[in-house]
Amino acid sequence: MALAHEIRETVLYPKRLAKRRFREEILSDWGHLCAYCSAEVGNTLDHVIPKFKNGSYDRHNLVACCPGCNRSKGSDDWLAWFKAQVFFCEKRARRIEQWLRGLDSRSWIPFEIAPSRD
Ligand SMILES: [Zn+2]
Repeated sequence: MALAHEIRETVLYPKRLAKRRFREEILSDWGHLCAYCSAEVGNTLDHVIPKFKNGSYDRHNLVACCPGCNRSKGSDDWLAWFKAQVFFCEKRARRIEQWLRGLDSRSWIPFEIAPSRD
């Protein structure tokens, strides 16, 4: 039986640290920018599919999300909500869809999610 090639970490971390790493990995995959409006986020994550709608705790159901979007989106269907926003972006919506399907930034075709900040 072939071994999975996906193992990236072989080091064990204390739970609290693992949790922080988990969060940080997601944030860094999103460039610390809101998945929806691309504003800078602190460390807030959003459950794309709300937990009570059977959304999972899996990292691929979590995206970096600014507090504004987080509050505004609430438990609405993410795509319906996103499409109704002035900052709706087709590319970003596609990226979120890919993310939900389990693809992370390493499989993304790079594109500028960040407004230039220099
Ligand atoms: Zn936002």
